Amino acid sequence: MEGFQVTEIGEKIYCILDAGNSSFYVVEGEEKAAVIDTGITAGTKILPVIRELTDKPLLLVITHAHPDHMYHMDEFDEVYMCHDEKKMDPETLVMLTAGKLKPWEEIHDIRTDSVIPLGGTELAVCQTPGHTPGSVVVLETKQNYLFTGDAIGSGCGVWMQVPGGTSLEEYYDGLVGLMVWLVKRGGRMKFFGGHHTQVFESTAHPVYNPLSLGVLADLIDLVDQVIHGENLGRPSNAKPFSKEQVRYASYGRAEMQYCASRIHRK
Ligand SMILES: [Zn+2]
Ligand SMILES: [Zn+2]
Repeated sequence: MEGFQVTEIGEKIYCILDAGNSSFYVVEGEEKAAVIDTGITAGTKILPVIRELTDKPLLLVITHAHPDHMYHMDEFDEVYMCHDEKKMDPETLVMLTAGKLKPWEEIHDIRTDSVIPLGGTELAVCQTPGHTPGSVVVLETKQNYLFTGDAIGSGCGVWMQVPGGTSLEEYYDGLVGLMVWLVKRGGRMKFFGGHHTQVFESTAHPVYNPLSLGVLADLIDLVDQVIHGENLGRPSNAKPFSKEQVRYASYGRAEMQYCASRIHRK
């Protein structure tokens, strides 16, 4: 369909890139197919694109409550998202979900180690609070594909300046928890972010910098350096969501945008 670029990235696993550079994914099992995130394409539906790939019953897993990931939530009946997104203040949550959020009682909660069976394969969830309080990553366990949303960026810097996100100290704990969770499962995942191939304003890696366990390790070090004042980076041109100057810091293959007022736990 026009405006969508569909790529088969694994066996019955598809990446759909929309015109706004948001990536979402379809994983087809023997009984059900899961859609992971929705992208944001105003004025059209995404179901017809997905129905060209699978005729299995569909469920939707949302990595986090940002409009470019959940805009088409209302096209699905069975929806999963971590209820920790409710930790955001209600006004921020409404703003960030563009009025497209279903009532919470219609959204299944997912937590670390939640499992969603699809038949022949399943999705396992790991909470990674930071970019939003309820951010999760989703692991397809048969082929070992990991869908990270915006939890660790998409090869270019993770946006920690967005309102509603956690402090960097809380983010550090989330990243270490994710690393442990991945290593316990063998650590050899194929990573796919929420904005596949995005380069944005990366200065450390002007060509596409694929996500990997190594990027996650560098990001843990980077966040630690910022928390301890060893690497504060420079002013950034990234979108500010408040009057505060956004800062950009990088280390190794990891990059981050952040606000100096949100380093420490409240
Ligand atoms: Zn995003
Ligand atoms: Zn996001």
